[in-house]
Amino acid sequence: MHEVKAMMLVEPRRLAATRLPARGVERGGWLAIEATGLSGAEVQAWRGDRHNLVYPLIPGQQVVGRIADTFDDSISLPIGTRVLVEPIIRCGSCVQCVRGLASCSHRKPFNAYGALPSTEPPGLWGGLAERLYIDPDAILHPISDDTLAEVATFAHSLAAGYTWAVELPKMQPGERVLILGPGPRGLACLLAAQEAGAEWIGIAGLDHDADRLELARQLGAHLTVNATEDDLAFAVANSLGTRPDIVIDVTSDDPEAIYTGMDLVRSGGRLVLASTKGNRPLGQFFSDVIVGKQILIIGALGASSDSYRWAARKLETDPRIDDLVSHQFPLDESNRAIQATAGLLGHDELISVAVTF
Ligand SMILES: [Zn+2]
Repeated sequence: MHEVKAMMLVEPRRLAATRLPARGVERGGWLAIEATGLSGAEVQAWRGDRHNLVYPLIPGQQVVGRIADTFDDSISLPIGTRVLVEPIIRCGSCVQCVRGLASCSHRKPFNAYGALPSTEPPGLWGGLAERLYIDPDAILHPISDDTLAEVATFAHSLAAGYTWAVELPKMQPGERVLILGPGPRGLACLLAAQEAGAEWIGIAGLDHDADRLELARQLGAHLTVNATEDDLAFAVANSLGTRPDIVIDVTSDDPEAIYTGMDLVRSGGRLVLASTKGNRPLGQFFSDVIVGKQILIIGALGASSDSYRWAARKLETDPRIDDLVSHQFPLDESNRAIQATAGLLGHDELISVAVTF
């Protein structure tokens, strides 16, 4: 194949169909994309809200596909293997990689799929295209052929949920976890905390999250709260009788969630901030509560490779994951797919969105 169909974000809010050559590389390989999940990251790129992003670019970082071609021994899996591709490419030698951070400074602005500009050769760095360049430093996780491709995209959310709810706050069995935001990653935090032995899990959303909150209840949340209508602090106190050990902010673009988290977490508890705020500042920030309550605040970005291995297993063993990808669109309808992800086409029955090939 010499030319591949791709959807390129030429500038914010301008996603255009284009064709790019899939050639000119001597290392790594090519992935035939089967499905790409969309999340807040693509919505932020589309809106122009993501700090430092350079356009034009091909969005899409939650990629599932098959290895179609390899050019050297950097890819140890055979051609035809179905894989999840970790969004973050890790060079292994920059300061960020050496420190084990979920970011790599080897390429600018971000050495990550869905975030590298199309001007960076060979140009195919995003999931909204028929082919993805497999960088020699890309990290691939083989997955079963039995799962539908669109369902498999949810493994990316699962991996993030495990890193944010379990790994980073070092969650122990028997702990109580409150999740702010019932989006795909919030629901993934629920599944991860559940499997890690959380004793109580609460999850809060807003008016438009009714279907996601109902799904959270079916998945086993002990408390679901529509915080537009009900007092969250009261509901948590009523259900739990004490304060949660861990609060995770997985809201979308809601700076206030940080105050809610600091307010509701127990003294000595952990607050995981996994949502960016569209580059907006926090007004009226009073830090004394952090000192007074001796809270540990953790900034969370991306998912670890261990979490991806957990997610690949979870995908094969938990049939409930089948219900978590509610909307599918073909590549040509990527504009609508991003709008659906942003909730612009309505929130009814919206759980998560994938583009399929
Ligand atoms: Zn690096």
